[in-house]
Amino acid sequence: MTSLIQPLHPNVQSFLKTHPDITIDPKDGLLFGTTSLKIIAEQYGSPSWIINSDILKSRYERLNQAFKNKQLDVSIHYAMKANGHLAILDLLAKEGAGADIVSGGELKRALKTNIPASKICFSGVGKTEDELRLAVETEIGQINVESREELHQLSKIAQKVGKNAAICLRINPDVDAKTHHKITTGLAENKFGIAYQQAITVYKEAYQLPNITPLGFDVHIGSQISSTTPYRQAFLRMVDLIKAARTQGYDVTTLDCGGGFGISYQNEPEANPEDIAALMKEVLAPLDLKLGIEPGRWLIGPSGLLISKVLIRKDNGPNTPPFIIIDAAMNDLIRPAMYEAWHGILPISPEAYLRPSEALHIDGPVCESGDVFARDRILPSLQPGDYIAIFDAGAYGSVMSSTYNARPLAAQIMTKGSQSAIIQPRQTIEDLWKNELVPSWYPNNI
Ligand SMILES: *Cc1c(COP(=O)(O)O)cnc(C)c1O
Repeated sequence: MTSLIQPLHPNVQSFLKTHPDITIDPKDGLLFGTTSLKIIAEQYGSPSWIINSDILKSRYERLNQAFKNKQLDVSIHYAMKANGHLAILDLLAKEGAGADIVSGGELKRALKTNIPASKICFSGVGKTEDELRLAVETEIGQINVESREELHQLSKIAQKVGKNAAICLRINPDVDAKTHHKITTGLAENKFGIAYQQAITVYKEAYQLPNITPLGFDVHIGSQISSTTPYRQAFLRMVDLIKAARTQGYDVTTLDCGGGFGISYQNEPEANPEDIAALMKEVLAPLDLKLGIEPGRWLIGPSGLLISKVLIRKDNGPNTPPFIIIDAAMNDLIRPAMYEAWHGILPISPEAYLRPSEALHIDGPVCESGDVFARDRILPSLQPGDYIAIFDAGAYGSVMSSTYNARPLAAQIMTKGSQSAIIQPRQTIEDLWKNELVPSWYPNNI
């Protein structure tokens, strides 16, 4: 067989155009980079998360190179909440990345993978006293302070510990990132950051407080942003702020530009690192700052996918497409249920591509109508037993999984070319209640 018998639907073709790492081979079926998903699915079963380390590495290198090409000094702090698996952190640490963390747990994870403390920055609107103390004790590179109250609390903790805390003030620039309302963070109505109008006042206080070393500012306006326009607006506001602070005699050495670079889920354009680098060069380079970024989704999202299997094909009559019920569910990947997210889905086996296309509803088996993966998706006809891949699931996928409906956590596999390794074994059913205790205080009246 040398060619696909059925032509691909135009929607599938345009999806493939924005996903150069995904190819359909007439003999091997679906390839993810150079990884054969058929081999992986048959070896590990489903549902399984796949991270392709070659793709992750090349995305990191492209991002890093974009700044180098512009002679920009930019530290990349991987926003590990997108996927903090130790194998991923280990790879990125070896590439030279630092980490953007949002909890004490993430701090310990980052340190465990030998990311130097100096390359860690700590964001988050509600840090506990213990978390702040740990951050000061381990002398992380930067704490992004999100309120005046936090600044004062941190100063007290740092005095007790007897060390200095290096800080940036996270500023809310009141810029609309025009993304999903649940992932926008830079509007005045959002809880994040210090109000723009109060920034200078709080920065002056930072200079007066004991054991605080002010480095500068931080701005993170949201997630899944494809256009440079909101970044330009936010950066310009920060330029004004930095100039104002410097005019009043306060040093500003650092600007943390945040993350949020968007990826192509369907066929929307992906944020382009070269454009972001060019924007930073134009707007920020004249201020001679140490720059930082905090990308999560852009690095790991397209580097991962979820393999699932069709359990049943349910024909509910002439008024609805067939329901394809798969063995992955909202407890594995919650993004469709939570953000109405669209994820590309394709069958894995080469035989599937010999079948005609049809409109399908794809759902998980969980007892919730929100447990939906796709509506009216035109795909080669799917049959029970078919393996499928759900793409762009590396970010905010496995890390948001739960065991709802007593469904064990899926296996996680990392691939490198034709090599593969389990990086997290499939959870067993018994694991689910391993830590559950039944108190003995009820009378035993049977
Ligand atoms: C979530 C988050 C990021 C990463 O966002 P992405 O969209 O995954 O790049 C960066 N910085 C902060 C402060 C965050 O909360």
